[in-house]
Amino acid sequence: MIDLAKVRRDTSACERVLHFNNAGAALMPDAVVARQVAHIRREGEIGGYEAAAEAAEEIDGVYRSVAALLNAAPGEIALMENATLAWNAAFFSFDFQPGDRLLTGEAEYASNYLNYLKLARSTGLVIEAIPSTPEGELSIPDLEAACAKPGVKLITVTHVPTNGGLVNPAEAIGRVAKAHGIPFLLDACQSAGQIDLDVEKLGCDLLSATGRKYLRGPRGSGFLYVRRGFLDRVEPPALDLRAAKWVAADRYELRPDAKRFENWEYNYAAVLGLGTAVDYARAIGLPAIEARVADLAAGLRARLAEVPGVTVQDIGRRRCGLCVFEVAGQAAEEVKTNLRRQDINTSVTDPNSTLLDATKRALPDLVRASVHYYNSDEELDRFAAAVKAIAAS
Ligand SMILES: *Cc1c(COP(=O)(O)O)cnc(C)c1O
Repeated sequence: MIDLAKVRRDTSACERVLHFNNAGAALMPDAVVARQVAHIRREGEIGGYEAAAEAAEEIDGVYRSVAALLNAAPGEIALMENATLAWNAAFFSFDFQPGDRLLTGEAEYASNYLNYLKLARSTGLVIEAIPSTPEGELSIPDLEAACAKPGVKLITVTHVPTNGGLVNPAEAIGRVAKAHGIPFLLDACQSAGQIDLDVEKLGCDLLSATGRKYLRGPRGSGFLYVRRGFLDRVEPPALDLRAAKWVAADRYELRPDAKRFENWEYNYAAVLGLGTAVDYARAIGLPAIEARVADLAAGLRARLAEVPGVTVQDIGRRRCGLCVFEVAGQAAEEVKTNLRRQDINTSVTDPNSTLLDATKRALPDLVRASVHYYNSDEELDRFAAAVKAIAAS
């Protein structure tokens, strides 16, 4: 059981805003803000390198915290500036050849797909989007069938898409990947912090995530997990003097761990804030968070379904904290702005962010209301009432 009064007290912004934009950037616990501010102050007082040296042990601890979150080892974690950079580092480490097949899903994120298209053009890689089941998640039998044919170089899938509550069956995808010996890259950007992720159960070789969404960390933080046994099967697309050592005029040696994917420079305040956020989430417990977020979102969908003129557009057998809907006759952006005037935070998801799925279902721009464990039933009621008033206007 999550102590709702306590987690709301720990996040003073809860008093000011009704925050249903956790899939955009969640509210940070006050401790996460304080840790960053304290480090920036310290940099101002004694110098950036010196402040980092002083915090060296705690910075090491961030790797342990992120690793523990995923049931990974600290040496399998690279801290990155955001999920996109983490994902790019993983994706561009593959040496695609003409005719290599890449398997993905229909709910794939635009930034990932753009790079499939880019490499399809430059390398001759072939993209195959595995169809979804009628319920909306990636079809495992279709994935099996695609893997039975030769030439699959990579399975790359978004766990929770940006445009709704769908949870793709990542563990089943991981089992198929393993059975066929195919590398598996999981975009866990929306699932990290709301779903209990265990890389052993997921069976992924690479996993990328961001700090600011469901993990409630700072903007400009993220990470990449690289399975230890996989490290030497790929090479980071770009190296710096943190990733590798220049040992002879014509030779370098890569670092032995996942830090070979990092840059030497990162934002230490953000890294320390990320560590604080991950520890905060782990202290509450990811299974409890996962259950509460799913419950709240189900409650939100049920309330919205009763509002005349509102259509909820979430799909999937298993659903999480993202809830998307349209209001008849009103642009999503207007609904968002109207809500914002009432200190209610949401965001808008547009068809281009998940083009395959949005085209298939002919989706317009949608309002995305994404809940977190610190939201309350009263907020669900207030939100539904506000949407009802907008829909009736
Ligand atoms: C937000 C998002 C990303 C990108 O994360 P950044 O931290 O903004 O780089 C990647 N994938 C999915 C599914 C997302 O929702």
